[in-house]
Amino acid sequence: MSSKDRDSNCIFCKIIAGEIPSQNVYKDNEVVAFKDINPSAPVHIMVVPVKHIVSLAAMTEKEMPIISKMTAAANKIARDFGLAEKGYRLVINSGPDGGQVVQHLHMHLLGGRVLKWEQ
Ligand code: AMP
Ligand code: ZN
Repeated sequence: MSSKDRDSNCIFCKIIAGEIPSQNVYKDNEVVAFKDINPSAPVHIMVVPVKHIVSLAAMTEKEMPIISKMTAAANKIARDFGLAEKGYRLVINSGPDGGQVVQHLHMHLLGGRVLKWEQ
């Protein structure tokens, strides 16, 4: 990966590089997924692009295909965790009002209980 594709101060880039421990559940050339350290559901997985992209709002048109790859990975993980039948939720928080804390694009995969809609 070229250095412009990672941010050496980013916690998710460090996880992807294996510099910070994580419980990985999925990995391919472009997408990595690991268990959320502070789960808000019985299954709570972070699905992230290998490339450092700051946020949904910061994405370029060229980068958009990664969203389908993240979704495909999330669907596979949901099946692997037995969520496909009962259901699950994918969430991308963007920016401060959206509740984004980590500045590396990520999709939350949540499931294993009935999820309320919190606004
Ligand atoms: P967001 O609020 O959408 O930016 O979500 C960031 C998520 O990253 C939160 O659910 C955190 O619990 C999770 N998180 C932060 N640090 C780690 C870590 N080292 N390993 C796994 N998940 C993390
Ligand atoms: Zn990053």
